[in-house]
Amino acid sequence: MDEILTSEADSVRAHCSLEPEVRWQEAMRRAIRDPGELCRKLDLPESLADGRSAQDFTVFVPLEFLARMRPGDPDDPLLRQVLSVEAENDTPDTYSLDPLAEQNASVLPGLLHKYHGRALLVTSGACAVHCRYCFRRHFPYQTVPKGLQAWQEALDHIAADPTISEVLLSGGDPLTLVDPLLQSLLGALDRIPHVRRLRIHTRLPIVIPQRVTEALRDMLAATRATSWVVVHCNHAAELDGPTLGALARLIDAGVPVLNQAVLLRGVNDSVAALEALSLRLVDHRIQPYYLHQLDRVQGAGHFEVDEATGLQLMAGLRQRVPGYAVPQYVREQPGERSKTPIEPRPMP
Ligand code: SF4
Repeated sequence: MDEILTSEADSVRAHCSLEPEVRWQEAMRRAIRDPGELCRKLDLPESLADGRSAQDFTVFVPLEFLARMRPGDPDDPLLRQVLSVEAENDTPDTYSLDPLAEQNASVLPGLLHKYHGRALLVTSGACAVHCRYCFRRHFPYQTVPKGLQAWQEALDHIAADPTISEVLLSGGDPLTLVDPLLQSLLGALDRIPHVRRLRIHTRLPIVIPQRVTEALRDMLAATRATSWVVVHCNHAAELDGPTLGALARLIDAGVPVLNQAVLLRGVNDSVAALEALSLRLVDHRIQPYYLHQLDRVQGAGHFEVDEATGLQLMAGLRQRVPGYAVPQYVREQPGERSKTPIEPRPMP
């Protein structure tokens, strides 16, 4: 595997002339924020981009992610996830600003309590990439507490409810927190005896793999509660050498890594794309967890794949890969006490 990782890493770096040691904060700072620039960097006409839709939800693409896109290809599956386009201005009636009605599940600012035994803390409004289909693209991040002192009320709530055995750190992306702050938060949660699992939902190791430093790896591996990392990757081309290396560092340290993906038109809506993603994940010890039906958030309608097609894709996938490589195809419905399986989970 080392040989493969090395050659993949080399080819990525050669393609984009990336310095291998750019720190993750610097990678965030130099990310592309202008849709026209994104097109120019890929030798594509700027007319492909739409500036209007980028006003509400800016384009944000790290060079590390750009390096995995094919220059000159307007249909590149990674580009489609991040480029603001004219179709985002369509607003069908069935699409809303808060498709999961999360504001109703909010027990305190930034603390959601949707499912039994689990609480979700919105730790940051920042992400390492802006995914155009994100169900939280209109989330009022300005209202959520930031910093340990501001989170105290949420921590007190969790400490006072012994039924909460698992805390999800979400956002935005919790790994955009600097290490001392993240360490403080994990430590505070770890001191609550009934919290047995910490789940970090993040896309950072996928888009900026150098975020998985030794310090971060050691921090996650050292918690009393079991730390799980759930990454978000939609296409096999996202899993290049540096990214797989970052995820291997976590797994080698004993931190389980799961992947969730969203079924997206023009990105992964083929059996071949889903198969390639699943096999690449399991080849590198990452468990495919969920394939989400698109949440109907305003601006994302052009990504929707209807469920009948999704079911056909899942049937095709199941014929191609072992059961443990088949993610569960689910939709999330506001007010439901769990994700809703769109089909029963196959036996391994
Ligand atoms: S990284 Fe996650 S939270 Fe951030 S924009 Fe993408 S899907 Fe949304």
